[in-house]
Amino acid sequence: MKMIGLIGGMSWESSAEYYRILNEGVRDRLGPTASARCLLWSFDFSEIERLQHDGDWDALAARMVDAAQRLQAAGAEVLLICTNTMHRMADLVQAAVGIPLLHIADPTGARVRAAGIARVGLLGTAFTMEQDFYKGRLAARHGLDVIVPEAADRALVHRVIYDELVAGIVDDRSRQAYRQVIARLVARGAEAVILGCTEIMLLLGPDDSPVPLFDTTSLHAQAAVAAALDDGIPGDSAAPGDRAAVSQVARGA
Ligand code: GLU
Repeated sequence: MKMIGLIGGMSWESSAEYYRILNEGVRDRLGPTASARCLLWSFDFSEIERLQHDGDWDALAARMVDAAQRLQAAGAEVLLICTNTMHRMADLVQAAVGIPLLHIADPTGARVRAAGIARVGLLGTAFTMEQDFYKGRLAARHGLDVIVPEAADRALVHRVIYDELVAGIVDDRSRQAYRQVIARLVARGAEAVILGCTEIMLLLGPDDSPVPLFDTTSLHAQAAVAAALDDGIPGDSAAPGDRAAVSQVARGA
């Protein structure tokens, strides 16, 4: 089993989910006392958040590269950045290390395509929804037509992430608001919705949406288990249009 290196703490609320899913995934494959070999570099998210909102992406990239190199030096053989937003500098991080970085958009995009879905809604931070680094990869590598909420809905989705979810606040009013955002995406033709922020799975489950939800936290962590056990990417073998498999993934099962 390979050693998984996690660049986390963005926020720790979702890094804790990664840790749980990695360990459950290894246990399911290897037996009840088996658990994931992993290393976690955990940032103080208050500093990360400040640099993001200052637009200081160079400083953020330097921090991500430094963490990746430290994890490699400590023995990591495969690397995860445990947030969608910080994949903005994924190429730089990959170029700075000699171990594979599993890009969070790839297991997600592969699984959406395997389900026979072409047009997909994306929820995430404003950075993820508005910049091209994430939507562009889903389109270019996975052939997906990605739509994002209208401006007011994007602001709401972003505010709930930074004011609530990263602080461990799960509020039913926000859940209702997100359900309405999803309904408006579905009305515009979204056949599924990607939870493109690693904390949204704390707020939403499959019952909150009329279309399948693809949870990036679960899909990314499951891909890491597969990579650590030399399995390939989960979802590649799923039959197109297999809604049951999609719902299972959406629940993180
Ligand atoms: N975890 C979130 C994401 O997946 C937001 C926190 C961050 O900006 O890193 O994008």
